[in-house]
Amino acid sequence: MNLKTFIRDIPDFPSKGVVFRDITPLLKDPKAIRYTQEALLDLVGGLKVDKVVGMESRGFFFAPMLAARLEAGFVPVRKPGKLPYNTIQQSYNLEYGSDVLEMHSDAIQKGDRVLVHDDVLATGGTAKATCELIEKMGGEIVQCNFLLELDFLNGKDKLLKFEVNSLLHY
Ligand code: 5GP
Repeated sequence: MNLKTFIRDIPDFPSKGVVFRDITPLLKDPKAIRYTQEALLDLVGGLKVDKVVGMESRGFFFAPMLAARLEAGFVPVRKPGKLPYNTIQQSYNLEYGSDVLEMHSDAIQKGDRVLVHDDVLATGGTAKATCELIEKMGGEIVQCNFLLELDFLNGKDKLLKFEVNSLLHY
C-alpha cells in the first residue's frame, strides 16, 4: 500500500509558507490504519520495550496500539497543565520563543526500555525534549519512530544518540 496517497498537503497551515502534512485521510481509512499499525510494528522489529511514550496529540493515535501489541505500557507526554498528577518538565526551543512538555513523575521506572512515537518528526524539538524527560527519569530509549519525517528539517540531527526510524520521508 502506498501510504503517501493518504497524506494530504495543506499549504500555509498553521502559518504562511508551511506545508502541513495532514494524516487524517489515513486515519479515516480502516485498511490504511491497519497497514500503518503493522508497518510501525515492523520498524520496532524484535526490540524489547517496557514503555511506549507518545506525544500530544497526534502521537496518541498509534502509540497506545503499539504499546498493547508490544506488551508494554503507554505513557502520554503533554503540554503544560494537562496532566493531573505530579509532573516533570522539559522546555524546548521553537522558531520564536520556547515551549514546555510534561510527563507524570512516576511514568518511567529506572532501566525501562522506552520506544518514543509521534506522527511527524519535523525540527526534532518535540522528540528531543521528550527523550530528555525519559532520560531524566532513568529510562533507556531503544528507538524513536515516526509515521512521517520531514527530511529537509534535519530533525534527526537532534536525535543523534538514538535509533530513528520513519515510515515515510518527505
Ligand atoms: P518538531 O518539534 O519536530 O518541529 O515538530 C513535531 C511536532 O509537530 C509533532 O508533534 C507533530 O505532530 C507536529 N507537526 C509538525 N509539522 C507537522 C506536519 O506537517 N504534520 C503533522 N501532522 N504534524 C506536524
